[in-house]
Amino acid sequence: MRIDVVSIFPDYLAPLDLSLIGKARQDGLLDLHVHDLRSFTTDRHRTVDDTPYGGGAGMVMKPEPWAQALSAVVEARPEGARKPVLIVPSPAGERFTQALAYELAEEEHLTFACGRYEGIDERVFEWAQEHFEVRPVSLGDYVLNGGEVAVLAMVEAVGRLLPGVVGNPESLVEESHSDGLLEYPVYTKPSQWRGREVPAVLLSGNHGKIAQWRRHEQYRRTAERRPDLLEGFDAGNLPRADRSELHVLGYDIVAGRLVRRPIG
Ligand code: SAM
Repeated sequence: MRIDVVSIFPDYLAPLDLSLIGKARQDGLLDLHVHDLRSFTTDRHRTVDDTPYGGGAGMVMKPEPWAQALSAVVEARPEGARKPVLIVPSPAGERFTQALAYELAEEEHLTFACGRYEGIDERVFEWAQEHFEVRPVSLGDYVLNGGEVAVLAMVEAVGRLLPGVVGNPESLVEESHSDGLLEYPVYTKPSQWRGREVPAVLLSGNHGKIAQWRRHEQYRRTAERRPDLLEGFDAGNLPRADRSELHVLGYDIVAGRLVRRPIG
């Protein structure tokens, strides 16, 4: 996969040289390029922002440096490659999820446009649709100072799904959000630590019982921390023991979907 990131703070993306993503780059699994938006300006001050039309606080990123930078990305893409996806980090975008990470991991080429100030002149995205599939994406319902932190998170979440990046691909299967639930609690040696024991079932060697315990812990944890994930969860084919566990947690199955029982 090729990834291009455009930012006025290219050094912000330095952590992408580290750990598994850094190794994936070294191994040629990820071809990642970071571009300084200011190098696409033409004035002496390398200006990238100006005051907003209509008034109001803050500055807006000028369109022309963005058009120049994104044109350079389009020109550098491999011959015959599909239209690249342009991810625009924005608190006003669709929510970034594990499902979207899987979808993006199927792409050949992703480009990220890191906004700053009050964001980028909207006309850039209208123009960019000729060359990219444009997707505004939010990391969550809060406001950051710039798109770089969001890009670090998204590149890591997508990059680790590429074949060969994570040593044991099995470890991707049972993670939080891979099946719509949060992950079960995990433990390692020693089995006794500061007066606390590992749940006995994990030492039993009974794989069926361990799998059931883990699934039930997933339900419990998800009900406690993220009940929104359980509402509407596809429960059509769950074993009887799982249904009982969910009943205890306050959920019924209606037309194959989990529904929270009204309290009281
Ligand atoms: N005025 C914008 C608004 O209210 O939607 C916020 C601009 S924010 C201060 C500057 C930049 O940070 C945005 O252009 C975007 O690139 C990035 N950003 C801020 N919050 C984000 C979030 N939750 N997810 C992704 N990117 C975000």
